[in-house]
Amino acid sequence: MEQLKGIMVSPGIAIGRAYVYAEQKYSIPRYDISADQVIYEAERFLDAVQKAGAEIEALIKETSAAVGDGENSFLNAHLLMLNDPEFHERVNENLKQNKQNVEWILLKVAGEIAAKLDSLTDEYLRERGDDIYDVSQRIISQLLCIQKISLADLDEESIVVAHNLLPSDAVTMNKQKVIGIATDVGGKTSHTAILARSFEIPAVLGLSNITQYVQTGDELIVDGTKGLVIVKPDKREIKKYYNTLAEWHKHELQLLNLNKLPAETRDGKMISLEANIEIPEEVESVIAHGADGIGLYRSEFLFIRPNRFPTEEEQFQAYRSVLESVKGKSVTIRTVDLGGDKVIPGFNGINESNPILGWRAVRFCLSRPDIFKAQLRAMLRSSVYGNLKIMFPMISGIEELESILTLLEETKDELKGRDVPFNNDIPVGIMIEVPSAAFTSDILARQVDFVSIGTNDLIQYTIAVDRENERIAYLYEPFHPAVLRLIKLIVDNCHEKGIPVGMCGEMAGDLNAAVILIGLGLDELSMSPIVIPEIKKIIRSITIAEAEEVVGTIMAMKSFREIDIYMKQWSGKHLDFISY
Ligand code: PEP
Ligand code: MG
Repeated sequence: MEQLKGIMVSPGIAIGRAYVYAEQKYSIPRYDISADQVIYEAERFLDAVQKAGAEIEALIKETSAAVGDGENSFLNAHLLMLNDPEFHERVNENLKQNKQNVEWILLKVAGEIAAKLDSLTDEYLRERGDDIYDVSQRIISQLLCIQKISLADLDEESIVVAHNLLPSDAVTMNKQKVIGIATDVGGKTSHTAILARSFEIPAVLGLSNITQYVQTGDELIVDGTKGLVIVKPDKREIKKYYNTLAEWHKHELQLLNLNKLPAETRDGKMISLEANIEIPEEVESVIAHGADGIGLYRSEFLFIRPNRFPTEEEQFQAYRSVLESVKGKSVTIRTVDLGGDKVIPGFNGINESNPILGWRAVRFCLSRPDIFKAQLRAMLRSSVYGNLKIMFPMISGIEELESILTLLEETKDELKGRDVPFNNDIPVGIMIEVPSAAFTSDILARQVDFVSIGTNDLIQYTIAVDRENERIAYLYEPFHPAVLRLIKLIVDNCHEKGIPVGMCGEMAGDLNAAVILIGLGLDELSMSPIVIPEIKKIIRSITIAEAEEVVGTIMAMKSFREIDIYMKQWSGKHLDFISY
């Protein structure tokens, strides 16, 4: 039995067998062939080249529709390399001379070409070595008949163990069969964490090296509440955890009794408690946990699927279905926040050295008005089916916001010109998740109907700490005085301009932070649906005066550690919750 400690990211307990989802690694066989077999190997090579070519052409088609020809031009370059007569000649020459299997020859030839390119001074040409490697790997995969495994095909209940899960892996996995998640890397606000919480799958991330301890089929316990994974537990441990699981279910059921009650402080201030969702299927959980609405619908998860972007019609159907199924409650759809850590498979055209500071969210949308306007049309058209709000992510300044609002107006005019019905008074808001936006929130607030603070990114950019990196997770601290001061600034600026302020980053669902956020004056908190009842319980047990007193005390403290200790003590004294 081995106990590993990681970062607790999604509460609950899973007991079951591991499925190790590994990046495919394979060894290249090396063997001698006879002179007669050279022709046969050359034919195998040609056949694999053809199949690899078809694969690349399909990728070009998919990504061109989505991102335009400029961004996937590297795929055309791969096609050229694949069919380069000189490359073919080298492979055939080597086959004849060395009489070895073609996979091995290919590896040798690719290595030689890459080494030659590497010795050049031109940086562009040197980087082409990676492309040669990429193309030869594609041919070798065809020669070895290697197919990509997908978590969507999982057919037995399993705890997925992986070094890392991409958002695309997490969003497409078979959610009925994944009962727990444990990964080497990742932090509390990584997208795997967010999705695990949304899908109510217990998860522990940032375990450093769980993939070295576990094999597919090993028995595991994932304790998402304490951030522990127990590998090959003994009978006593399993029994103990089954008892904890029963307690956990009882606690959850008790909390659900709060569903029909409002999130109202003891002295009568109403807070809107809303849910964050990634895919329309989550609406069931939103309703089951008594949310007042959807405060953040991360629309990019419609886009983070293999193959292609959704059409306007597909988007319209998704938005409409969410709006209709919450029956009049408000739904805040955020326009696509693609790029950064949310990459699309097959769309590695976004090849940036600093993607988190790069071409993402509204920056991407402004450079691709065709994609952006299609989304706006889908949203506007869906607005007649419910209570829609539109929200723009990653705004960094007023020019960006004004350009976005101009595109929205243009799209409205186009729809009006075509007599397509939509609600002309849809509230429009922005996320504040970049320090420059926080500092200019007084200016930005004049142009919008509401603001929602995206602390996942705001903390990342304020403290300069990668939200996905478990090695520096200790620095990723919502209670950092700089973060708290920024939140206060945003709330005060927005209230002065008369608009409401919400929070939809993970901090909104942090049980230790709830009192602070109420004391700072936030009007709305949006979080993973499973946390709503517990946060509601806290809000119902405090007064505004108490919360403001807590804020007064902690704002005078100098470090996040001090604030953290104070909040844990305060919560222990005044509140009653299962801490996670
Ligand atoms: C945030 O940054 O706080 C946020 C809610 O957006 P995301 O987590 O999708 O980046
Ligand atoms: Mg964000």
